[in-house]
Amino acid sequence: VMGIDHLRDPRLNKGLAFTLEERQALGIHGLQPARFKSQEDQLELCRISIMRYQEDLNKYLYLNELHDRNEKLFFRLLSENVEMLMPIVYTPTVGLACQKFGLIYRRPRGLFITIKDRGHCFDVLKNWPEHDVKAIVVTDGERILGLGDLGACGMGIPVGKLALYTALAGIKPHQCLPITLDVGTNNETLLEDPLYVGLRQKRVTGPEYDEFIDEFMEAVVKRYGQNTLIQFEDFGNHNAFRFLDKYRGQYCTFNDDIQGTASVVVAGLLASKRITDKKISDHKFVFLGAGEAAIGIADLCVKAMQMEGLSVKDARERIWMFDIDGLLAKGRPEGRLEGHKAFYAKDHKPIKDLRALIEEVQPTALIGASAAGGAFTPEILKIMGTNNDRPLIFALSNPTHKAECTAEQAYNNTEGRCVFASGSPFGKVTYNGKDYYPGQGNNAYVFPGIALGVIATRIHHISEELFLVAAQVIADNVSEEDLAKGSLYPPLGIIRECSVQIATKIAAYAYEKGLATVYPEPPNKRQYVEDQMYSFNYEPSLPNIWSWSKSPEIKT
Ligand code: NAP
Ligand code: MN
Repeated sequence: VMGIDHLRDPRLNKGLAFTLEERQALGIHGLQPARFKSQEDQLELCRISIMRYQEDLNKYLYLNELHDRNEKLFFRLLSENVEMLMPIVYTPTVGLACQKFGLIYRRPRGLFITIKDRGHCFDVLKNWPEHDVKAIVVTDGERILGLGDLGACGMGIPVGKLALYTALAGIKPHQCLPITLDVGTNNETLLEDPLYVGLRQKRVTGPEYDEFIDEFMEAVVKRYGQNTLIQFEDFGNHNAFRFLDKYRGQYCTFNDDIQGTASVVVAGLLASKRITDKKISDHKFVFLGAGEAAIGIADLCVKAMQMEGLSVKDARERIWMFDIDGLLAKGRPEGRLEGHKAFYAKDHKPIKDLRALIEEVQPTALIGASAAGGAFTPEILKIMGTNNDRPLIFALSNPTHKAECTAEQAYNNTEGRCVFASGSPFGKVTYNGKDYYPGQGNNAYVFPGIALGVIATRIHHISEELFLVAAQVIADNVSEEDLAKGSLYPPLGIIRECSVQIATKIAAYAYEKGLATVYPEPPNKRQYVEDQMYSFNYEPSLPNIWSWSKSPEIKT
């Protein structure tokens, strides 16, 4: 490392925070103006700079540039301004950044492995300059957020998720690796876009695709070891479930769209007990949607009901699911009860009308994860309000215009009695003179803490129970005040504390169940977790200097 690298390398750069001694010793004195700043001074400048940008995409670009310039400053800024910056670094703005990826692309971040590199996944992985990677977020770009197939432009997602790994759970940046597997895209607009930066071909599918993913998983293990955490993100529905089932017992892996979502929604259900006095097993659920999110939630609810004492069969009976063809009922046409959908199929005649189903089944909880905007009509909400003292209404679909209903519609049509949560943020709602501040079931409450716990204790396989552990921690962090305001989630500002608690609980669980592989067992789990976390503060740039004592040398 040369002196000048301390200005050029984002991992070493401290900008005007270099001391006079550091500037002189590193040979960078005079390359910056005379002023010495603290990191706090710099944070203030960052906030002023961000405010200057009107458009969210420009704020995203500013943050990107900061990330490339001064890593510690970027992460400290993000971690101390979660409420303001998470919507920029992550959804919704990251979606826009993905859509404009070809236009805004400047510097490389993350690793692209293409289907044309088949047989050479390991060679490509070897080119990644870090040797101590512990966590990978990987996508193939087929289903980016609610935006569909964005091909190689999906890279914004693994980059954004891993930024949250560091900012929200203190996982060290050099241990994080974002990866996009570029197998082509079926997005015609992108294929014709002169600015598109990915492979210009249709998606490769079938055995060739599967073998490629297999090869990728093996290459990761060969390069970084068996317990490298691999988070699958924004794969198409069909592949997401297949890969989760295929790899979960073999690799250290989870799927956030399925399992992270499930955990954060179950957290909301657990918190709601303090309002409704109902355990999860006391509810009767109707789900709109039976995809990655909905099935993930249903499966974890079943797990939670089992813990409460129900049999699997009884638990599944309490969940009625409705997809694009209507109620999941036995005797549907061939191929329309694929995968886990079959678990929830009811002995019932087909119903295509959601309202009719709700009138008949009389659920206590209505969960929407269908991306069918407005599907919870005022009539449906009114029935929920008539049948229940405190109906649960979760409208989880993103972005905002895809939500099954708005917060306002939910409160207005249930006389303000509903217990509401959403996937997209909704502002304050006033009903009958009372203000409600509905909480957002954001996966960011879950996945960074899970990752921290798994990495810290080197768990080999991520079991479903870990997501229940996380859900309970989040629910426990919801204050009476939050509930009184109408929120089933803690404020985003305490997400970092939630992450540490999740990791601590996971560590305790992992040792209890023999899942942890770090020996010896640390006596204080929280301390152990915290000791491994990244520090956002600058460290001295000069080595320790000491002198030797003057004691006489032994002559031979
Ligand atoms: P997905 O796998 O494509 O599933 C969508 C499901 O909805 C499918 O089962 C589909 O039916 C069903 N569906 C679509 N249109 C419908 C309609 N008009 N009526 C009834 N059912 C309909 O997608 P996903 O990953 O589960 O995501 C679904 C939504 O949840 C998205 O908007 C996403 O943003 C949101 N989400 C929110 C969170 C969160 O709040 N934390 C997390 C993850 C996802 P078929 O099975 O018949 O195709
Ligand atoms: Mn996702």
